[in-house]
Amino acid sequence: MLIVKNALVYAPEPLGVLDILIAAGSIVAMAPGIDVSGFPCPVEVYEAEGLLALPGLVDSHVHILGGGGEGGFATRTPELLVGDCVRAGVTTVIGTLGTDGLARSMESLVAKAYSLRAQGLSCWIYTGSYRIPPATVTGDLMKDIMMIEPIIGAGEVAISDHRSSRPTIAELGRLASEARLGGMLSGKAGIVNFHLGDAPAGLRPLEELVSAGDLPRAQFIPTHCNRNPLLFEESLRWAAAGGWADLTTSTVPRFIEEGEVAVAEAIRRFHEAGLLDRLTCSSDGQGSLPLFDEKGVLAGLAIGSSSSLWAAVKEPILSGSLPLEEAAKTVTLNPARALKLRGKGRLSVGADADILLLGPGDLGIRGLVSGGRIAMAGGEVLMRGAFEA
Ligand code: ZN
Repeated sequence: MLIVKNALVYAPEPLGVLDILIAAGSIVAMAPGIDVSGFPCPVEVYEAEGLLALPGLVDSHVHILGGGGEGGFATRTPELLVGDCVRAGVTTVIGTLGTDGLARSMESLVAKAYSLRAQGLSCWIYTGSYRIPPATVTGDLMKDIMMIEPIIGAGEVAISDHRSSRPTIAELGRLASEARLGGMLSGKAGIVNFHLGDAPAGLRPLEELVSAGDLPRAQFIPTHCNRNPLLFEESLRWAAAGGWADLTTSTVPRFIEEGEVAVAEAIRRFHEAGLLDRLTCSSDGQGSLPLFDEKGVLAGLAIGSSSSLWAAVKEPILSGSLPLEEAAKTVTLNPARALKLRGKGRLSVGADADILLLGPGDLGIRGLVSGGRIAMAGGEVLMRGAFEA
């Protein structure tokens, strides 16, 4: 058993200073001043006085197996390490293949999900890649979702992008219906995560799909919605009509100069429009990012990181644009709801014991509990992968 003492709890709604008692990976009590002295078993104590407690972050779009490769084989990015997530305050990660569904396989993605779980994180994945027909394990997208436990939906399928397979509306509709049915029959979300590119079609293919009337908007999660101003405005309208929108937090200064909507500004706009409950943020971690020199010439490549998630989401809180409990929903409660991740995204009795501990002034990451296990304490990473020094 473990007890986190005297933390100022945001569940994400503010609950005041509480102790959080944990047994077998779940929260079993939350109350002020819980006395564990008479317990018949030893209880490890994590003193969190002066710290803020939030649910462990849910990063809902990460290339856990590595991504990139768009500049040739030398530009393939490395796999995600457990320590990367711990440093980022992330306890739940959703893995996806990405552009390359040939040299990277669904079998490897499933194995990577099991590997991250075995090392202390919570992990689920999407089946498929940019292309249609999708890369799968069983040769059947619906069977993947229904029969392979870590697979909760399909994605990331590319639309409105030169790297997509230019799917027709009928092809998208068939894929979405199969994902939905696979999800229904297995009690999973069965959603489709769509990669949106910069092509002017934007969200139009999804609007067309929804206009047929038999698939709900909430079945689709378009991502990279902040990549250009037009797509961002479309995503506000999409969310106003009941859809989800996902923002990408990994970026480089050049993208912002070229019109990408900064996540802090994008969150503020959704809040202003009363649509924060339809918004999620994800890091696109381990994707490749271009670096440019001062003349604008490609000078190298960087890697997207889960660390960008909290760094971006805390910005509008620190600047006073919106309260912690509102901004934090986009990386806790909302992705857990969108993806039907029971026990995730909330601090409450019965929930999984995933707890992020933040410093009170800068909201910096000071501690982390993942599945009831202390992953970070006093800023030091304690939960590392097998090959992390
Ligand atoms: Zn993408």
